[in-house]
Amino acid sequence: MDADDSRAPKGSLRKFLEHLSGAGKAIGVLTSGGDAQGMNAAVRAVVRMGIYVGAKVYFIYEGYQGMVDGGANIAEADWESVSSILQVGGTIIGSARCQAFRTREGRLKAACNLLQRGITNLCVIGGDGSLTGANLFRKEWSGLLEELARNGQIDKEAVQKYAYLNVVGMVGSIDNDFCGTDMTIGTDSALHRIIEVIDAIMTTAQSHQRTFVLEVMGRHCGYLALVSALACGADWVFLPESPPEQGWEEQMCVKLSENRARKKRLNIIIVAEGAIDTQNKPITSEKIKELVVSQLGYDTRVTILGHVQRGGTPSAFDRILASRMGVEAVIALLEATPDTPACVVSLNGNHAVRLPLMECVQMTQDVQKAMDERRFQDAVRLRGRSFAGNLNTYKRLAIKLPDDQIPKTNCNVAVINVGAPAAGMNAAVRSAVRVGIADGHRMLAIYDGFDGFAKGQIKEIGWTDVGGWTGQGGSILGTKRILPGKYLEEIATQMRTHSINALLIIGGFETCDRIKQSASGTKRRVFIIETMGGYCGYLANMGGLAAGADAAYIFEEPFDIRDLQSNVEHLTEKMKTTIQRGLVLRNESCSENYTTDFIYQLYSEEGKGVFDCRKNVLGHMQQGGAPSPFDRNFGTKISARAMEWITAKLKEARGRGKKFTTDDSVCVLGISKRNVIFQPVAELKQQTDFEHRIPKEQWWLKLRPLMKILAKYKASYDVSDSGQLEHVQPWSV
Ligand code: ADP
Repeated sequence: MDADDSRAPKGSLRKFLEHLSGAGKAIGVLTSGGDAQGMNAAVRAVVRMGIYVGAKVYFIYEGYQGMVDGGANIAEADWESVSSILQVGGTIIGSARCQAFRTREGRLKAACNLLQRGITNLCVIGGDGSLTGANLFRKEWSGLLEELARNGQIDKEAVQKYAYLNVVGMVGSIDNDFCGTDMTIGTDSALHRIIEVIDAIMTTAQSHQRTFVLEVMGRHCGYLALVSALACGADWVFLPESPPEQGWEEQMCVKLSENRARKKRLNIIIVAEGAIDTQNKPITSEKIKELVVSQLGYDTRVTILGHVQRGGTPSAFDRILASRMGVEAVIALLEATPDTPACVVSLNGNHAVRLPLMECVQMTQDVQKAMDERRFQDAVRLRGRSFAGNLNTYKRLAIKLPDDQIPKTNCNVAVINVGAPAAGMNAAVRSAVRVGIADGHRMLAIYDGFDGFAKGQIKEIGWTDVGGWTGQGGSILGTKRILPGKYLEEIATQMRTHSINALLIIGGFETCDRIKQSASGTKRRVFIIETMGGYCGYLANMGGLAAGADAAYIFEEPFDIRDLQSNVEHLTEKMKTTIQRGLVLRNESCSENYTTDFIYQLYSEEGKGVFDCRKNVLGHMQQGGAPSPFDRNFGTKISARAMEWITAKLKEARGRGKKFTTDDSVCVLGISKRNVIFQPVAELKQQTDFEHRIPKEQWWLKLRPLMKILAKYKASYDVSDSGQLEHVQPWSV
């Protein structure tokens, strides 16, 4: 597993270091503006990657204020100083708003403070304000240096030596209000907080008939409101980008009373802090409450979430996102030339990319301008492709057209869950059923997987039947891990009996996005955790990245006794420093003989006197619990797309009688890079390792070195895996 590992691509470490040595360079890292969960993960990644490439890394405490004040506010970071912060919310280096940095005088002081430590590389984690400030600072840099020289604060040589300031930004903001990145650091965690609250409200509110008006953050951006509405199937949502049409008051009341009539006991209305009407007048949660009470007389409660949304531990997604961005940011700084514009590290699909900072800031400001000028369609478009997609999906799933307005297709479409239950399955079924009904099909539910299919456990399922399904764990339809092989004839008979024209299968190889563990706070202890996944090491690997593991054993990357030895030695060394915690993940099927018990015993024996061990087999709790916001939305959106695809195929097939057996009529839908793609099963077959039930190529494997680097191994990181400065407009990709 170290640099001399024979499996490591030959010469790649050398090439990497030649390419990207940070020797002699100093990097300053700061967090600025509003804090967000995951900022610490970004700081940790910058510090460790910086040290890994041989650079010096400095914390700049309290944002720009610390840079202006200097002194103890700028302090060199070492490896241990970012230990055990991955799971901590907020930012350990502090964040502040700073008036002084808005003035040239303040920035002059800041430049002087940086120069005293030779810092000419700046990594800023903050919102668009902070990044704008950083960009301005970079532009002024040479002028500031000259002024400092004139004042006699630095000499001529220093002006030459430190002539350029490199700037890279990472967006830390819970609002996801920055154009150019699919997700900002903190957004996913904020969604977790919101969904936790909604789930809690839902459980108590079932006993009363109540309407909840929930106000979430987002003064200018409706992302949190929209996505949480999608994730909990809210009755109504108010966003700044997409104000309700005139007459919404009545429409909303009609919808609420209709839902009540359908025996729905709980209404949920989500309001973004900055919600407005088409005349740019605020729509407040209080106003909505008054409306519901005066028009309908319902018992209505307002909940304003406020700072709770910034709190709590960062989600796995935010930790991984921030870690990847931090590593990419350091590479960007090392690769920067005097001509490279300041860039921001962004997420595009599941790729980390670099975009020109000011273009993104400009786009972000354009959205606000569009809203101010009441060009709301432009505002939605400018927010990017996925925002518009979310909005459309929400509208389709929230509002049912009256039956007589839906043209019938006379097609029967069945939905089935197969394989292990996974969080998000119910959201996917709900979405498929509703989109199917809206498309004019008769929707059938198949209960208990292929087993139930063969036995004819098939019933029509309606719009209201799937109400409230998004937040529920497991599979409501029931699923069994039985393959259809032996039932093919019975299934064919059922397909005929029920005239099933299309079948949507939700499930498949084990999937789940949940891994939970808490392994901090105890003394010199190594936790050995076994994760699920069959032969697929995704959970162990990504869990490892999210939790800052020291090793993650997976089937895809064979390991032997030498690797185990080097891991144990590595941990023993680490434990001699101030670091007191070790974490080792082991995928359940990574090796037949190096079992979890074996690894536990090996570490226990070798660690004697230095650390003790605990082991934990996570088992089925990983498949349980309520689905995360990501799974709910992913399930919802992907299923809506699948249904649209089925509808299109059924239309195509209409001219050809009832049969349609083109090569691509059996597809698997998934996300690849940035796009949702339908892949014919025949094609997928060639890309699948059936024995182990995993794809032959797995995108996340290239994140392996990252985990090792951040855990202090001498792993090699192939530069070609990192992003390049791309001049792309995100919504046009
Ligand atoms: P955010 O980064 O979350 O958008 P702010 O807009 O409050 O938060 O910006 C944070 C800090 O960044 C400000 O307090 C200020 O120090 C600095 N900053 C923001 N805009 C500028 C600017 N145009 N010029 C210089 N500094 C700025």
